[in-house]
Amino acid sequence: MTKTILVTGGSRGIGRSTAILAGRMGWSVAVNYARNKAAADEVVAAIADAGGKARAIRGDVSVEADVVSMFEQASELGTLDGVVVNAGIVAPASKLMDMDTARMRRIFDVNVLGAYLCAREAVRHLARSRGGNGGSIVLLSSAAARIGGPNEYVDYAGSKGAMDTLTIGLSKEVGPEGIRVNAIRPGLIETEIHASGGQPDRAQRLGVTAPLGRAGTADEVGEAIVWLLSDASSYVTGSLLDVTGGR
Ligand code: NAP
Repeated sequence: MTKTILVTGGSRGIGRSTAILAGRMGWSVAVNYARNKAAADEVVAAIADAGGKARAIRGDVSVEADVVSMFEQASELGTLDGVVVNAGIVAPASKLMDMDTARMRRIFDVNVLGAYLCAREAVRHLARSRGGNGGSIVLLSSAAARIGGPNEYVDYAGSKGAMDTLTIGLSKEVGPEGIRVNAIRPGLIETEIHASGGQPDRAQRLGVTAPLGRAGTADEVGEAIVWLLSDASSYVTGSLLDVTGGR
């Protein structure tokens, strides 16, 4: 069945792969980005080339007005069936004792408050009691939620632990609304997020320690996300799916 979905942080990395894979299925895709309009436009063009419908929508997920407006613009593509709460950031690797408040606040503003705002708007748009179709919400957690991110990102790891807890609670809250809520916990995936943390080679360097012996690709995560959005996963909710090569 064809669907209309919104992917936050759809301009690069895992969000980009998800948006393009969904476009290839013939779905309509709202591609959110924060700053990188050129990258978002390239994703929209790739979806159009594949025969899908897409639009790029600017918005910072940590700003409530941006999130509300993003969902309104996304709905112009069609009634929403799925939302991927994907936008997320890291900061340069550091021990907690050296982290300043501004850094931690930004991590929690984008990764936690941003995700909660997006999940709230998703429910408002999907809930049957509000005239929606029901649907699927996929949250991007991380293997860091269970590993803890020591010496690098304990702030980030905690923000991802919040995604696991949100998945468990919200799935129970909105099941009766016809909405499924699941999380993906990627391991070491080759995207630009590692460069933004000051370690561009991190996925390749540490990926070899995974049981499958390599880092994963954004497409390998995107495939799992698209499955959770699709009707093929119709009885799956409240799940935390590791896509980690066994890490
Ligand atoms: P990425 O390559 O760095 O891409 C980040 C995306 O998020 C970009 O599209 C960026 O938009 C967008 N973004 C950043 N801040 C935003 C904001 N405030 N509002 C809206 N959009 C924003 O990241 P990624 O590796 O694909 O990661 C995607 C998700 O997977 C994140 O939640 C991350 O924590 C999670 N994850 C990744 C890995 C990994 O190894 N890569 C592992 C575990 C979990 P612009 O292009 O406009 O900057």
